[in-house]
Amino acid sequence: MFDKLTERLQGVMESLRGRGRLTDENISDTLRQVRMALLEADVALPVVKTFIESIRGKVVGMEIEKSLTPGQSLVRIIHEELIALMGAGVRPINLRAQPPVVILLAGLQGAGKTTSAGKLAKWLKDTEKKKVLLASTDVYRPAAILQLERLAAQLDVAFYPSDPKKPALTLAREALSEARQSLFDVLIVDTAGRLHVDDEMMSEIREISAAVNPTETLFVVDSMAGQDAVNAARAFGSALTLTGVVLTKTDGDARGGAALSVRQITGQPILFMGTGEKTDALEVFQAERVASRILGMGDVLALVEKVTTTVDREQAEKLARKLKKGKDFDLEDLHDQLAQVERMGGLSSLMDKLPAHLTARAGAMPQGGGEKDIKRQVAIIRSMTPGERRYPKNIDASRKRRIAAGSGVHVSEINKLLKNYLQMQKVMKSMSKGGGLAKMMRAFGG
Ligand code: GDP
Repeated sequence: MFDKLTERLQGVMESLRGRGRLTDENISDTLRQVRMALLEADVALPVVKTFIESIRGKVVGMEIEKSLTPGQSLVRIIHEELIALMGAGVRPINLRAQPPVVILLAGLQGAGKTTSAGKLAKWLKDTEKKKVLLASTDVYRPAAILQLERLAAQLDVAFYPSDPKKPALTLAREALSEARQSLFDVLIVDTAGRLHVDDEMMSEIREISAAVNPTETLFVVDSMAGQDAVNAARAFGSALTLTGVVLTKTDGDARGGAALSVRQITGQPILFMGTGEKTDALEVFQAERVASRILGMGDVLALVEKVTTTVDREQAEKLARKLKKGKDFDLEDLHDQLAQVERMGGLSSLMDKLPAHLTARAGAMPQGGGEKDIKRQVAIIRSMTPGERRYPKNIDASRKRRIAAGSGVHVSEINKLLKNYLQMQKVMKSMSKGGGLAKMMRAFGG
């Protein structure tokens, strides 16, 4: 899911990368592109509107952090808003009510109700150690009843034998009294779905709901359904008091708009997400993970956090100005850069956190990025005199021996460092406009 949306949003972020400052114009342009991407992903229009407006509000009031580029801040705001959009009020399923806890599943035919009933039963049994009874009230489709019965047998969960000749309401009542009598912890009631919302179906499910008085009424929705999902959510939401959402088929490759719309349309939190056809393909919904996935961020957020707390942007910009003036990148500067990288836990730990397409850009980084290497190089530079740091060319053989002794390393290490330095100086010169780390940091996400 979300592949297309991720691709589009990454394109938007790409266009922000490398910008030091955001103008009203490029903020508007970015928001316009985000809006287009969401609409293309079939996110409901009112949801897109409020989403964009709330990002705009935050951007206008945003205080641009010293160590982050504004582009990064914008990405972070979008990420936070995605989490808020999908995850507002997220909570665990309520199992604390007086047993039997009744879970009623509602949704269109094909949304994945029966499958989800089985998955939920398995999850409750395995993870929560609950004694679960499954019941079907889909008397219009004996095949659906049979499907649930088979699923129950396969999962070793109790099934209330639902006779399709009885009215759905009667079956629901019987299942509840069986759950009470046999001391089940949870009763899951699967209901009939139609291909389209119709009044008869709505009044039947309303009656069933009144009869079993559910603790949770979960709206099951196919995340690939787009606008249909929105209409169904509205219809079920007005017929029943929904308490949560189960988002199915998130493993599909469709646009995934429903995932972003359903929280706002129903006003209820997404509790679970179906991630495949198998009975264990059910996950407790985590908005943050899904938001990161939508932005294709991997672990980049963790990196942004780290950069926020450790990189001194002013210092990086000072270096950029210095290089712009045509001054040489000296060992003092290398020391500052290395010390920053050291604070972030070494280059390799940074690289690990980057998505592959960004790592490729950083190919020009000097070798020896391990934490130990960096520490040693910092120590070597510290045992030089200020003059040596500023004019590395003056470091002759006898000075090298003195520095090596001072920092407790072999002379070959000093040579390696100086070679590294010359390489880095070349890289710095070739990045004619920007400053080394500052530019690299921008490449990371802003
Ligand atoms: P119902 O009519 O709402 O009861 O829907 P079903 O439970 O019969 O599901 C309809 C189809 O969707 C079946 O083929 C299921 O295997 C499939 N399905 C349900 N949930 C998921 C899911 O999370 N991922 C995938 N890939 N398929 C699912």
